[in-house]
Amino acid sequence: MENKHIYLPSTEAGESLKLTHEQEHLCKVVYKKTDDPKIYRFHDLWNPINDYNEEYIIVPVRSVFGSVQGYAAGMEFANIIGSKDDPNPSSSWLKLLTNNGIACTECVTDGKFYDPKTNKAFDGYKCSDYILGGHIILGCEAKIVEKGSSVYLIPICNHHNSYACGNSGGNGTGFYMKTKSDGNCILLKNYLQCD
Ligand SMILES: [Zn+2]
Repeated sequence: MENKHIYLPSTEAGESLKLTHEQEHLCKVVYKKTDDPKIYRFHDLWNPINDYNEEYIIVPVRSVFGSVQGYAAGMEFANIIGSKDDPNPSSSWLKLLTNNGIACTECVTDGKFYDPKTNKAFDGYKCSDYILGGHIILGCEAKIVEKGSSVYLIPICNHHNSYACGNSGGNGTGFYMKTKSDGNCILLKNYLQCD
């Protein structure tokens, strides 16, 4: 299948990003078509080893880069449903965080996996030492990204990125997370309106 790469103009903030040649090539974001032909929904960070059919478009990170944003300790956030569990995430997303002054030495969560039904932590789940650039949404429920919500890139461990808690089934679902302390993350614009 042919991957459809689209070269949209950069956002002003995206224009000022300092990217290596490798990041320029690898840091791309995938959107999926919706029923409305003008609306594409955020799907995932691009993984070069995946095949994306004609329902997807792939755009450079400069086109969707919003800003570096601060968050407070205790911020509640969750994974995005439908994004793949990537056992070998590109190190470029971590470097993009690092290049923007965001430390990626440890998982930003408090180490717990919170049950959205009880707001208590599940037993038996822990962080791993393997940190990646996770894409998340605010709130207490892993969900499909809808128009109007925001997508953030934040350093989390692969357990928080991929575990399924309760009877949720899907990778990275059935729980939500809280940040351990104040920090920064990257905002990616979540949907495209193509004229
Ligand atoms: Zn973790």
